[in-house]
Amino acid sequence: MQVPPFSLDQQLSDIGHQLETAASKVLRSGHYIGGKEVDDFEKSFAASVCVPYAIGCNSGTDALILALRALDIGPGDEVLTPSFSFFATAEAISNVGAKPVFIDIDPKNFLINTGLIEKAITSATKAILPVHLFGCPVDMDVIVSIAKKNRLKIIEDCAQAAGSYWRGKPVGGIGDIGCFSFFPTKNLGAAGDGGAVTTHDPEIAQRVREIAVHGMPRRYFHTNLGYNSRLDALQAAILSVKLPMLSDWVKKRQAIALRYQKLLKGIPGLEMPGDSINDQDLCGHSWNQFVVKIKGNNLSKKLDREEIFDHQENNLSDSTYRDWLKEELSKNGVNTIIYYPIPIHLQPIYQEIGYKDCKLPFTEKVSHQVLSLPIFPELTLDKQDYVVNQIRNLLLV
Ligand SMILES: *Cc1c(COP(=O)(O)O)cnc(C)c1O
Repeated sequence: MQVPPFSLDQQLSDIGHQLETAASKVLRSGHYIGGKEVDDFEKSFAASVCVPYAIGCNSGTDALILALRALDIGPGDEVLTPSFSFFATAEAISNVGAKPVFIDIDPKNFLINTGLIEKAITSATKAILPVHLFGCPVDMDVIVSIAKKNRLKIIEDCAQAAGSYWRGKPVGGIGDIGCFSFFPTKNLGAAGDGGAVTTHDPEIAQRVREIAVHGMPRRYFHTNLGYNSRLDALQAAILSVKLPMLSDWVKKRQAIALRYQKLLKGIPGLEMPGDSINDQDLCGHSWNQFVVKIKGNNLSKKLDREEIFDHQENNLSDSTYRDWLKEELSKNGVNTIIYYPIPIHLQPIYQEIGYKDCKLPFTEKVSHQVLSLPIFPELTLDKQDYVVNQIRNLLLV
């Protein structure tokens, strides 16, 4: 049996016709940029996040850049954010000329450690950019109270968290700005790149709109240096078909996550995300990824395995076990992914531009332990059982 980490096959056989109809309607209309398809999607997406404004753009990365630019964040400014995220989070901050200041994570839920944020605030700090990583909502009560007290803006990176809630509120509508990605593997995926910015603030919405289209409040009149970052009518039409299905897909992801938690319970050396995330957070978790930690020290039974000993001495690191498990699973058809093997501050470019002294112990530690198991709404019970059994066979001697 083969189990991919993510697959659209079943979704395409379920709704492929609807997607084709929507796409061909746009194709035949001849209106590819802007127009009703984009307006309609923006309206429904805004409603789904419980905000008055959503602005479509080219990608989640652009959503972050537009958000930062709309808040006038640039050279000389600092933005507090985690290093354990997809590279684009920090890249966007650096690309607008500001400085990402990395906050370590809470190793239990992989999210920015809100207890470390206030210590990192300086006179240059302009914003907090929390990431709802893997679909798990950050404690926005704490973020909002720190931001209020210190007059900071909040930009939520919701790229992996469409359909996630914090205490009953959709993420992306809690801070000043929410940034979403419609990359095909995200919870709400386009047939290509796409993204959106969400906000309650009409002025921010207007600024994002202008900056996304060449800083042009009206035709051929430019008050800013912006970008060409629009959501295509074709993508908007496809997303409009999928948006009403999002909450159902999230429910399916939650059911799969719950099932992994039950079936993988009690395996020494394997720590599940649910072990440490409280119920409050769990019910708002959209499970874009199901990420387990493989802890080498607890896998002492594996010490005599030759494939590990071949190239290692006695001091086996977590990543040795994690990488061994990943490799063995893939030999048996179970394909997993490591999100993320190298934290952002340790990436060559950040080492080069001044982060050599940046030490984030938990971020660095979990990057050696994490492994994402296959999860997508259409994953069948059979396939999930197969994944579970392969893991049990390998880890339980
Ligand atoms: C995917 C992702 C992005 C970037 O989104 P793109 O649409 O690929 O540009 C930003 N942040 C996080 C956390 C992501 O997972």
